[in-house]
Amino acid sequence: MKSRIVLLGAPGSGKGTQAEMITRHFAISVTSTGTILRRERDLGTPLGLEADEISKQGGLVPDQIIVKLIEDWLNLHGQNGFVFDGFPRTVRQAERLNEILARLGKTLDLAIWLDVSQQTVRDRIAGRLQCRRCGFTTSLTSARFADRPVCPYCDGPLIRREDDDATVLQTRLAEFKAKTEPLLSFYEKDDALHRIDGNRDREAVFADISALIEERK
Ligand code: AMP
Repeated sequence: MKSRIVLLGAPGSGKGTQAEMITRHFAISVTSTGTILRRERDLGTPLGLEADEISKQGGLVPDQIIVKLIEDWLNLHGQNGFVFDGFPRTVRQAERLNEILARLGKTLDLAIWLDVSQQTVRDRIAGRLQCRRCGFTTSLTSARFADRPVCPYCDGPLIRREDDDATVLQTRLAEFKAKTEPLLSFYEKDDALHRIDGNRDREAVFADISALIEERK
């Protein structure tokens, strides 16, 4: 399928989980700017180390760095549609994405906004385990990983993210409110916006997302 989708929402709203379900079910390529940045950090590149200083404190990495990552990714893998998890996070990033797509003669199909309560965010972030290598996300309470915290997809280690700490989360939520929430009106204007109740379990949320994707087939 060639759908072009962005997944938007607060930290812990389920973007990564839904992106993974979409790619498995619909075979649409997925990328996460957060995962790319963590990979760069683990490789020790200047970009990765610079971004890590910002991410560790809960801030957003500058737009021009992020847009360049996405532009490079689109040039390499973007021919058959995409799901972006965690991009865009600012109006400037969304504007630049539209410009890049316009150059390629394409438009965005769906901007899916996962609505979650503050309580859901706190609970999910406090209990989150993530694969250090590929970004697969699960919960600390998942019995399946209790004895062997190893990623079922790539064998990477499942760890608690450094920025999932309660104090850093406060900053991430403030950044989200100030810089990412304005995307609601940005995408409402474009008629691309669909809000989904993300407080429910992953299958219920995915059923709604699937219906939106199927409608556009
Ligand atoms: P995530 O894995 O999506 O929660 O992203 C982790 C961190 O990477 C964020 O808290 C930001 O510091 C940075 N980051 C990821 N995506 C973006 C983006 N689109 N714009 C700015 N910073 C980003």
